[in-house]
Amino acid sequence: MEKILSKHFNQVEARAIDVSIANGRYSRVAKALSMKPDEITSVIKESGLRGRGGAGFPTGVKWGFVPKGTQKPVYLCINADESEPGTFKDREILKWDPHLLIEGIIISSYALGCHTCYIYIRGEYNDEALILEKAIDEAYEKKYLGKNIAGKGFDLNVYVHRGAGAYICGEETALLESLEGNRGYPRLKPPFPAVEGLWKCPTIVNNVETIANVGPIIEHGAAWYKQWGSEKCPGTRLFAVSGHVQKPGVYEAANDIRLLDLIEMAGGLRSGRKLKAVIPGGASAPVLPAHLCDIKMDPESIAQAGSMAGSSAVMVLDDSTDMVSACRTLTDFFAHESCGQCTPCREGSPWLAKLIRRIDQGEGKASDLDLLLEITKNAVGRTICVFSEANAAPVQSFIKYFSDEFLARMKHIQPKRESLPVL
Ligand code: SF4
Repeated sequence: MEKILSKHFNQVEARAIDVSIANGRYSRVAKALSMKPDEITSVIKESGLRGRGGAGFPTGVKWGFVPKGTQKPVYLCINADESEPGTFKDREILKWDPHLLIEGIIISSYALGCHTCYIYIRGEYNDEALILEKAIDEAYEKKYLGKNIAGKGFDLNVYVHRGAGAYICGEETALLESLEGNRGYPRLKPPFPAVEGLWKCPTIVNNVETIANVGPIIEHGAAWYKQWGSEKCPGTRLFAVSGHVQKPGVYEAANDIRLLDLIEMAGGLRSGRKLKAVIPGGASAPVLPAHLCDIKMDPESIAQAGSMAGSSAVMVLDDSTDMVSACRTLTDFFAHESCGQCTPCREGSPWLAKLIRRIDQGEGKASDLDLLLEITKNAVGRTICVFSEANAAPVQSFIKYFSDEFLARMKHIQPKRESLPVL
């Protein structure tokens, strides 16, 4: 399989613009700027490229929601606020191949009729922000940004905006609020950002990995991209594999790679260990026990197994994992990150965390499991954003598949515990 995104990972020299140009970055700009904007959108639609941030919405379709002939400015916002436990794949693009992203931004902006792009980067990604800012300066020097790009009469400015550490700012409308200088509160939808986003103007929010794919697709065409992956989710994808594997890291593979093959790519399980469970799509994805892990990794196959592809953060748990503690790690995270606007989330998230902490400390009651499930039920479909559901799903799945461990902890029988889960 050809590496589309990760070919130059771990090559420090490839960050420099001259090396990057020699590696083919910016070679697609002149071609794209000679096309009609709608033609570019059509190629991206035809390629089947789906968002890589979590929701998996078709990129070209999203671009098509920008009102035709709008008199308002159109904005492109790149979501680089990668903050969920286990998710660290956009970081690699920012760190090793920032010009691939900038090239994708130029082409996407042209397709959208956008002349201002913001890259909203996670506050903790200090090194990556500095690398990106340097790459943007280089692109201005070479006239790939600014006025009259490639002599085609197209102008574009790109700005890096650093977040302040709130996970919720990865939610697209909270990101826009934060960018406007407000507290990062998700907005009620509709209106969706494509119609009314940044400063009430049409705005497309796309993930880093999504936009990094745009240049190669324009160069080779939709059919080329569709040779990998599944029918509904073509192409390759960056999987961030963590937990109990021998070589945790970011691996590029076809969207429909088998999960067990992906674990092998990451060096396999630690010696003498058996697979216990996998969280296949980031902390907000339901956990799958080992017997459900012989699946393909495209979103539809994962959904059929009862979880979600999400941000393609694959957390592997072997048989040494204490599932109550693993669940506690997740609920503690979500309790800390709720923005507090909605009662079921503001009150429910810490309540879940408190109950699971109590069980983890051997002080739980049998009725706690029912109470936990009741709280998660009330968290679904009653809030402004899906954060609350993202918190509920892991709890429900941990209880569904590993209730014996929760019950054992309540009876003060500690399951065999040789190492802490890596989450
Ligand atoms: Fe905030 Fe939670 Fe409501 Fe989302 S669901 S808006 S994070 S309180």
